[in-house]
Amino acid sequence: MEEAKGAGSCGSHQCGHSGGGCGDKFLNPTPMLDELENGPWPSFVGGFKELAERTKKPMLRGVMDQLEYSYNTKMGYWKGGLVTVDGYGAGVITRYSMIKDKIPEASEFHTMRIQPAPGLHYNTEMLRELCDIWEEYGSGIITLHGQTGDIMLQGIEQDKVQECFDRLNEKGWDLGGAGAGMRTAVSCAGPARCEQACYDNLELHLQALRHFVSQLHRPEWNYKIKFKFSACPNDCTNAIMRSDLAVIGTWKDAIQVDEPALKEWIEKNGVDALVNQVINLCPTRAITLENGGMKIETRDCVRCMHCLNVMPKALSPGKERGISLLMGGKNTLKVGVNMGSLIIPFMKMETDEDREAFMELVEEIIDWWDDNGLDHERIGESIERVGLKQFLEGVGIEVDINQVARPRDNPYFKAKY
Ligand code: SF4
Repeated sequence: MEEAKGAGSCGSHQCGHSGGGCGDKFLNPTPMLDELENGPWPSFVGGFKELAERTKKPMLRGVMDQLEYSYNTKMGYWKGGLVTVDGYGAGVITRYSMIKDKIPEASEFHTMRIQPAPGLHYNTEMLRELCDIWEEYGSGIITLHGQTGDIMLQGIEQDKVQECFDRLNEKGWDLGGAGAGMRTAVSCAGPARCEQACYDNLELHLQALRHFVSQLHRPEWNYKIKFKFSACPNDCTNAIMRSDLAVIGTWKDAIQVDEPALKEWIEKNGVDALVNQVINLCPTRAITLENGGMKIETRDCVRCMHCLNVMPKALSPGKERGISLLMGGKNTLKVGVNMGSLIIPFMKMETDEDREAFMELVEEIIDWWDDNGLDHERIGESIERVGLKQFLEGVGIEVDINQVARPRDNPYFKAKY
């Protein structure tokens, strides 16, 4: 194994110092990492340094040294393992160092995934308690939030995990999902703060977590499965690209038009703006100019949200609201990147009965996948392999003209446009 550049001797392990000590500085020199602090953007390196100098936690110094060593040798040195808490089979992502003889301070740096509140609404008291407990047992580093939606508490040793979890659990926090089971899920701000919300995605998220809590803590399926709950087709959780089950708010009837607000918008911005910023940018040409105002042909509207986003006071989703369920979105795995395919075009989601019907449907879908999927195969990959027809027949979902057989497979178009 190649030695770190300029390795010298400092305390308990090799560091980047050429001299015989580190002076008053707690951290060892990290010239490669320091490069990441250049430029206009905030850098995680700066945050690491500030936290390490303030808390004097050797683990943080060790992780910095290991990362610097990785940058020099162009190799990663973390490996997995298994760490859980009593009664759980998931929730802690392990990180053991392969070079602990060289940098013993970073020999373990596990991550605890903590379930966030739906919509990511917290009160400050809970956040303070979380931070205090984490600083006591772990590194103090928190990521808000990981791709799975979890709060990521990064950097703890195995023998502290159980006690840390018990303390967090006493305060109402629970571990998130990991492994081949239900994942924690993500929801956007929804009706709590957004006027475009078409269903109570926060309630559905909470009920889905409760319904699948056993499979979340004790993985038992072929592979992972992720929900994301976006309350309108703007899809602020990126559900279509990044979840197996994308639950997206939508409406069935006509877009609601507030005529006085529309008139005000046109008076302020002009008819040219109406034509150039709204009418001409409707992807399906569903809007026409009529008597200096606009007319929307509902059957041509594909709920892209463009016109509603441009004039949110004048236009709002229709009154008959509910969800669409898309399936199979995911990042690169066996068959590459996929966006979700529309499976259920519309389902009402207002009452507890509606939510129960939704859970039953999802259970059917997961049962089919559990029976027919291969090991380590996401549900979209299973559908892709056997065909949409077989999937629909297997789950007992009616064929609908709106279902798309071939998912769009470049999720980056959203980032670009
Ligand atoms: Fe056109 Fe999109 Fe507005 Fe529908 S939501 S009318 S498709 S711009």
